[in-house]
Order: sequence, then structure tokens, then C-alpha cells
Amino acid sequence: ISSGASAADIVAQNIQENKVMMFSKSYCPFCLKVKDLFKSLNVAYTTLELDLMENGPEIQEALVEKSGLRTVPNVFVNGEHLGGADKVFETQKNGELMPLINKSDHNYDYDMIVIGGGSGGLAASKEAANLGAKVAVCDFVTPTPKGTTWGLGGTCVNVGCIPKKLMHQAAILGHELKDSREYGWATPESVSHDWSKMVEGIQNHIGSLNWGYRVALRDKKINYLNAYATFTDPHTLKTVDRRGKEKIITADKFVLATGGRPRYPDIPGVKEHCITSDDIFSLPYPPGKTLLVGASYIALECAGFLAGLGYDTTVMVRSILLRGFDQQIAERIGTYMEQNGVKFIRGAVPTSVEQIEEGSPGKYKVTAKTTDGEEITDEYNTIVMAIGRDPCTGGIGLDTINVELAKSGKVVVNSAEQSSIPHIYAVGDIIEGGLELTPVAIQAGKLLARRLYGNGTLLTDYVNVPTTVFTPLEYGSCGLSEEVAIEKYGEDDIEVYHSNYIPLEHTVPHRPENECYAKLICVKSLNEKVVGFHVLGPNAGEITQGFSIGLKLNATKADFDNLIGIHPTTAEVFTTLGVTKRSGKDVNAQGC
Ligand code: FAD
Ligand code: NDP
Repeated sequence: ISSGASAADIVAQNIQENKVMMFSKSYCPFCLKVKDLFKSLNVAYTTLELDLMENGPEIQEALVEKSGLRTVPNVFVNGEHLGGADKVFETQKNGELMPLINKSDHNYDYDMIVIGGGSGGLAASKEAANLGAKVAVCDFVTPTPKGTTWGLGGTCVNVGCIPKKLMHQAAILGHELKDSREYGWATPESVSHDWSKMVEGIQNHIGSLNWGYRVALRDKKINYLNAYATFTDPHTLKTVDRRGKEKIITADKFVLATGGRPRYPDIPGVKEHCITSDDIFSLPYPPGKTLLVGASYIALECAGFLAGLGYDTTVMVRSILLRGFDQQIAERIGTYMEQNGVKFIRGAVPTSVEQIEEGSPGKYKVTAKTTDGEEITDEYNTIVMAIGRDPCTGGIGLDTINVELAKSGKVVVNSAEQSSIPHIYAVGDIIEGGLELTPVAIQAGKLLARRLYGNGTLLTDYVNVPTTVFTPLEYGSCGLSEEVAIEKYGEDDIEVYHSNYIPLEHTVPHRPENECYAKLICVKSLNEKVVGFHVLGPNAGEITQGFSIGLKLNATKADFDNLIGIHPTTAEVFTTLGVTKRSGKDVNAQGC
């Protein structure tokens, strides 16, 4: 605004240039209230504090001329006069404020269409709707080769984190039932487990979550289409519901959040006779003797709870356990699982699956080849393929509208989750270089919506994301594995502090000692900054969640040492780690 501009020009220009323009006074409590409201709604607004401006009184006069309002705050939205504090709060109460602010300047059906109603898609759509955008969500589950299908909420809720953690809990309870005898409970020696009852309980819980998501979408006036979406041009989708009914819908912006589905190896008999994590959590009959193919999160977690529930369980490992994780801990997990009934076939991949007997479960012969070229066979009732997941990015028209995909099939995005087509974004499991974890998808969806429709500027931080593998002995980690830390900083610059530990709860039932393990990886030249946090033991997820904030805030080993522990807990071990790996000293825990 030029220095000679009149008060009327200043008013007019500010109203024109700023979506939400507020004429205010710095000491005015009503102005403060409106500012707080805008902040809580993530609304970007501009203010002129009239009491701090030389020509404040003239501007206030010009405002009376323009709006008839003498008092502050005086708020304008999208060039139109809204009013003072009372009017702002009344508009908000009626649910009209955000739509007014985010009034569309296009002729599409929606401001935003989200493809995929899973962790990332629901987060993005709900936040965008909160910010006043007109949103639709398309979610459609293609049945598995076995015909399994599920409701709204995506992988995590239906066939991932939620049923997995609950089955993990079922197995833990079995172990604790044994412990309970030493604590005086007259638990019978032989207790049985009812697979179908567990599945029913878990599926009922999932059903309530599916319903809750539908209600949440309805409450936020988000249009939910239970239909499969395909792009026909960069702003248009064709949706097809389960009855084959087609609909064409358009939007200004799109968020791809289609997630992934389990991969099957290209070997005979696999799709006819094997299941995946998409089927196991709703399996209507007990699985019996089970083979899990794969050696990462899914294979090991499923193997852990199946063995814990009493099933004869084998894991077929192609190369190493838990690629990408700290290998010392991965091997300790393997040892613990082996000691607790899981069998491992190392260095082998299946080559064919044949049916021997029909039934629920049936019986199947699995032939496999070892790395030495030897052929091995065995019979199983259930075979679970857990060899990784493919992104659902094929056959949805991304090629026709030129959205760039990586070799993996994942969407190439920049740090703002924007694809090669500027109005098309992607979040969650399908982004190249991302992390396949629910909270990551949620954070990315939420922050993206805030950047698009609010005053958000924050980008999702994909570094130091804590995670936990829910094997019988849980493994929580944040930051670098020892291997990667050495590769990055060099062996001489790394100091590893570690200790075995015995949870107090394990002492009375005489569980084997020193199975649990804590490890901090520090960089000497960075004042022993902690770059890797690893814990193997009960409730590792809970422990890791808390400590990971330390890594985000660049905690050093001295910070961990200065922290006073909570006694008696297992997490307190991290406040007293004194033995370096380099010293070779004994790390077995010595009493309390
Ligand atoms: P999803 O949740 O997969 O949602 C995508 C949705 O889009 C699906 O409903 C899909 O059917 C739908 N869709 C696909 N294509 C279309 C289309 N063209 N039209 C309409 N709809 C479409 N993460 C954790 O953080 N902790 C855990 O403990 C954990 N455990 C897991 C256990 C298992 C067995 C598995 C498989 C995963 C686990 N994960 C875990 C990972 C987590 O589930 C995923 O990272 C998360 O669900 C990804 O969310 P998303 O939004 O990217 O996709
Ligand atoms: P991953 O991609 O992590 O691992 C695939 C596993 O299968 C590896 O062990 C791999 O072995 C093996 N494999 C690959 N191809 C073959 C083959 N042809 N024959 C035999 N074995 C093979 O997949 P997951 O399915 O376990 O997990 C997918 C993602 O889901 C994870 O990365 C994770 O982000 C998320 N998830 C998170 C969980 C959590 O937070 N607790 C739980 C479960 C999943 P190799 O090492 O030799 O390549």
C-alpha cells in the first residue's frame, strides 16, 4: 500500500487482498477471542491493529463508512463484510464460518475427493471438512481371492493393527494365565482357547469402529461413496459401486490414499490355497498347523500370536529376520520365538502348494527350495503369505493422467505430498520413500488438509518415527539400527550402551532371565547424541512412544542419565545404562 494511500484505500486493499481480514486493537479482549477462535480452527487471518497505527482513527472512520460498524473487531471474509465478534461466533456456531472462508472458486462437484477411506484418507477428509471444504471419500474393498471383505476404515482397522494387536493380546493372556499359578491363582493346568469366540469378539469390535467412521463422515457432511474410483481425466472420477452402478464426480483437488494389499508369489497353487493377513483375522475356523512365508513384521507378529494360542507354527524365512531393523535384536526375537514354540525354516522359499484334503481347514503340501538347492516338503492346514504388500495404484487411471509412479508402483511425491500433477496429492502406504505405518498416514493426511484449507505450513516429518513389532516379546525402536548408525557415522564414532533386564513381573513365575534387552546408540562426536533407541520386552510399544520424544528433541546420553527413573518399571533401565558394547562387559541384569 503506497505511503500516500488514503484510509479508505488501506481498508479496501486489505479487504481485497486477504481472505480473512480483521481490523483489531491489540488490547481488545473481543479481538483476542476472535483471534483465538481463528487459531483453534487453523484459519489464516490478517490483522491491522488500529491502536498501534498513526492513522488508526482515520481507518476506523473509513470502516464505519464501509461497513456501518464502529467497533472492533471488524471482520471481512473473501471480500465481504462479516461483522464483529458476536457475528463471528454466531456464524461459527451455525457451522457456516468455515464454508464461508473456504468458499470455492471453481465449478467442480467437490473441493476435494479422497480415494481410500483408510488411515490417511479419513484423516485428510475429516480435517479438510473441518476447515470448510466440500469433501467426498470413495472407499471400496476388493474381496481377497478367498472372498474376504470388510467395512470402512482401511487396513489398520479391519485387517491390520487393530485385529493384530487384539490377537497378540489373546496370546499374551495365555502366557500370563500360566504365570498366574505362581501368583496363587488356581488356574487349571489345561486351559483351552476358542478361536471362533476370539474372532467373533474382535470382529464385533471392528464392526463398531466401521460404524463409528461412517457416522463421523456423516456428521462432518462428507459424502461417503462405497465405490471403486478410477480417473477418467485429471479432475474427473468414474465410481462403480458393488452393484455396478456408475457415477461421474469431479473435484478441484484429489488425495490418493489407496493403501496396499498383500503380494502373492508367482508359484502354482498359491492364490487358490493360501491366505494372507487380509483373511486371517476373520478366519471362521481355527487355522491348525500353520506356515507363514516371510520374515518381517506381519509374518513374525502372526507367527507369534498363533504359537501363543497353541497352534503348530512355522515361519519360512528367505534371508534374514526383520530386514531394516537392528539385526542383533531381530535375532534375539527369533531365539525367543523358537524357545516359545515357533519353528523356523531358514534360507528357503516355497515353489508350489497343492491341496491334499478339503476342509476347514484343509490340508496342503508345500514344496520349497533352500538356498543350497535342496527341495523340502511338509504339510500344513493353513499357509499365510506375508511377503510384502503392493500399492493399490494400478488400474485407477493414474497412467492416463500422467501421475508419476516409481518402479515400486508407489506415487512419487515432493515433501508436501504433492504428485507430479499439482492438484493430486498422495498420503499413506502408497507414497514412495514413506513408511507403511498408520500414524504416519494419519499425520500426513491431517497436515496436508491443513496446508490446503487452513493456515498450516507444517510438513510431515518422516524422520525418527517410532515403531513397534508386536512379536511375543515386543520390539520397539526409534531412529537408527546399529548397522545403519555404523554405516552413517563410522564404527569409531558410535558408542552403544546396552543391558539385559528382567521385568519384575517375570521373577515370581520364574520366566527365563535376561531375555529382555535395552540399547541406546550414541554418536561420540555429537556429544553422545542418541540416534538409536531399541527395547525388547513387554510393553515395548508404550515405552518407545514415550522415549521417542527425546530423540525428536535431540537428547544425549547425559540427558537419559539425568532422567530419574520410575521404580519399579522396566523403562527405568534406560536411565541407568552404564555398559558400552565396546567394553565387552557382562550385560546381565543384577537384581533390583
Ligand atoms: P489403507 O488403510 O490401506 O486404506 C486404503 C483404502 O483405500 C482401503 O480401504 C482400500 O480398499 C481403498 N481403496 C483402494 N483403492 C481404491 C479405489 N480405487 N477406490 C476406492 N477405494 C480404494 N501400522 C502401524 O502403525 N501399527 C501396526 O501395528 C500395524 N500393524 C499392521 C498389521 C498388518 C497385518 C498390516 C497389513 C498392516 C499393519 N500396519 C500397522 C500398517 C497400517 O495398517 C497401514 O500403514 C495403514 O493402514 C495405511 O493407511 P493408508 O491410508 O495408506 O491405507
Ligand atoms: P515387508 O515388505 O516388510 O517384508 C517382506 C518379507 O517377506 C521380508 O522378510 C522378505 O524377505 C520376505 N519376502 C519377500 N519376497 C519373498 C518371496 N518371494 N518369498 C519369500 N519371502 C519373501 O512386508 P510385511 O508384509 O511384513 O509388512 C508390510 C509393512 O506393513 C511393513 O513394512 C510395516 O511398515 C507395516 N506393518 C507394520 C506393523 C507394525 O507397525 N507393528 C505390523 C505389520 C505391518 P527379504 O528380507 O529376504 O526380502
